[in-house]
Amino acid sequence: MTTKKPKTGGEIDSYCTKCKLDLTHRIIAMVGDDVKKVECKTCGSHHLYRRPKSEVLAAAALKAKTTGSASTKREGGSDEKRSSGARAGSAAAKREMDQTAQWEHAIAGQPSTAFKPYRISLTLNPGELVRHPKFGDGVVARVIDRGKVEILFKDGAKTMAHGQTS
Ligand SMILES: [Zn+2]
Repeated sequence: MTTKKPKTGGEIDSYCTKCKLDLTHRIIAMVGDDVKKVECKTCGSHHLYRRPKSEVLAAAALKAKTTGSASTKREGGSDEKRSSGARAGSAAAKREMDQTAQWEHAIAGQPSTAFKPYRISLTLNPGELVRHPKFGDGVVARVIDRGKVEILFKDGAKTMAHGQTS
């Protein structure tokens, strides 16, 4: 990974407050070496620069790991003054992040032989790896019932059929 020094007019990954995603932004204002304002290349809105959610979560995870504390309680003081609205409505995003992390963890380093080609006739168990022609690599998150399983794909969890004999 290379760290390029940001400059006005350059590109930077930022959390878009409108799209609610980490997206490429164009830097429109800098204060010293800090990115101040950015323009979302996806929706075109102008807003204050926010660190990408993935970066924030990774930092938080690292902190939780090193301190061993549950990260639900935050100690005030060191936060930027303007971040008061940042913690609202992030539960869904966090759940999505968790699923992505879970998915990545499950498929990381697995040889392609570990993935079964997905077919509805397969009877799947949690943790089994499947390869779907459209959705790609997935891991069985849970068995819903004898005919349905929830599989985590790169795009998120999907309910899929399994154990279907025809
Ligand atoms: Zn946007």
